[in-house]
Amino acid sequence: MSEGLVTISYIVATILFIKSLGGLSNPESSRQGNYFGIAGMAIAILATVFGPKITGLNSLLTILVCMTIGGSVGVFAAIKVKMTEMPELVALMHSLVGLAAVLVGYANYIDPTTGFSGAEKTIHEVEIYVGILIGAVTFSGSVIAFGKLSAKISGKPVLLPGRHFFNLALLVGAIVLGKWFLNIEEISAGILPLALMTGLALAFGVHMVMAIGGADMPVVVSMLNSYSGWAAAATGFMLSNDLLIVTGALVGSSGAILSYIMCRAMNRNFISVIAGGFGTDGGTPAASGSAEPQGEVQPISAADTAELLKEAQHVIIVPGYGMAVAQAQHTVYEITKFLRDKGVEVRFGIHPVAGRMPGHMNVLLAEARVPYDIVLEMDEINEDFPHTDVAMVIGANDIVNPAAQEDPNSPIAGMPVLEVWKAKTSIVMKRSMASGYAGVDNPLFYKDNNRMLFGDAKKMLEEVLTHLKG
Ligand code: NDP
Repeated sequence: MSEGLVTISYIVATILFIKSLGGLSNPESSRQGNYFGIAGMAIAILATVFGPKITGLNSLLTILVCMTIGGSVGVFAAIKVKMTEMPELVALMHSLVGLAAVLVGYANYIDPTTGFSGAEKTIHEVEIYVGILIGAVTFSGSVIAFGKLSAKISGKPVLLPGRHFFNLALLVGAIVLGKWFLNIEEISAGILPLALMTGLALAFGVHMVMAIGGADMPVVVSMLNSYSGWAAAATGFMLSNDLLIVTGALVGSSGAILSYIMCRAMNRNFISVIAGGFGTDGGTPAASGSAEPQGEVQPISAADTAELLKEAQHVIIVPGYGMAVAQAQHTVYEITKFLRDKGVEVRFGIHPVAGRMPGHMNVLLAEARVPYDIVLEMDEINEDFPHTDVAMVIGANDIVNPAAQEDPNSPIAGMPVLEVWKAKTSIVMKRSMASGYAGVDNPLFYKDNNRMLFGDAKKMLEEVLTHLKG
């Protein structure tokens, strides 16, 4: 394939990637967005593999073998992973992007065939240095994020004394090593500052994510997504591959925008996220005793829940992580359909960080064929709770916790929440009095107008449906 054809293919792939991002911004067009992304990636891979930079049958065979291995691992992981484990998988994938940037950086540095000199050589070495730096931070940060999300490491923030000075020292160290690296002529001697900087960057990634509290993890995942994009863009500069630069920049900037939107939704400061260690200032980290139940609750049966729903005119359903665990979305749809057919207004209130990944609830509800027009964002529906007869909370906890508004010392203080307690009656469906992801008690459970429907969400909803139909 000629250089010209490769360039045209790269431009087509870039357009498809942009269309893909546009499609993914709306549930209705997201499937089409995915197809655009797949087509763009297929074109990009074909143009690269059959382009002029890959010469000889041996190189082609090596690439095909590696692609088969990598592709098989990807397909296996995608089929096997549970929807609730998606953030862990995404974090692990980000770590691979970071690792690839580090390895490409080293390979590029020791490659004797690049043959740069003068200013070109300096620019090339800066690209390598920055690429390895971002890659190493992304790699170690993502591995820690994976550990925290999969509960292999405690979700509590680990705060070293003088941690900001530690971060500053790492940054100064990276700059000093960078200066040393650029002044070295011999490749064999340059490896030392490069390796030392890699160590510092790995330590920074670990320290940054370790300092972040569990409830703030969604922002970290999207921030690491952004970092992985910049790592890919840096790799693109090293390899002089325009498509990789553009794609990396797209991922980097869209991840940064998503982080910013999530920060706003959780009332966090974006700058302190970038600097690491956020989510711990202002509030106190979740104390071990803070999840203890602190009052009396009023249980309700499935039969009484069905009665309340039958009498209601306006119902808002708030799904959370528990609905995903119980896979209750199809029964939720059945109940919604039944009530709507009886003339009850049923709508859904979706919190930006409900579940374990952005858009988690939207995906599940779309899968169960819940119409998009009754699925509303938190800001669109929050002021309607006072005019709502029943607010049904299905396996959600942190996102409906009034302590976020009422208790300035709560670890989730300032996080916007769905104000379900303002409805005439709220019903919380969960198995026990256990706390949610943030590990804090929820005063909603003890409010006079709240009822607790204890049990597995799917099982309880099936019982409610049976009583409704009966
Ligand atoms: P929470 O984790 O706060 O609460 C979920 C509740 O579901 C638990 O209290 C649990 O109670 C209940 N539950 C679990 N399994 C079942 C089941 N089978 N049937 C019924 N209930 C069940 O979830 P939310 O969605 O309210 O909040 C999301 C939290 O996750 C936030 O703190 C957010 O910051 C964090 N997070 C979000 C991410 C995102 O991008 N969306 C990513 C990572 C973290 P019980 O055990 O008693 O049943």
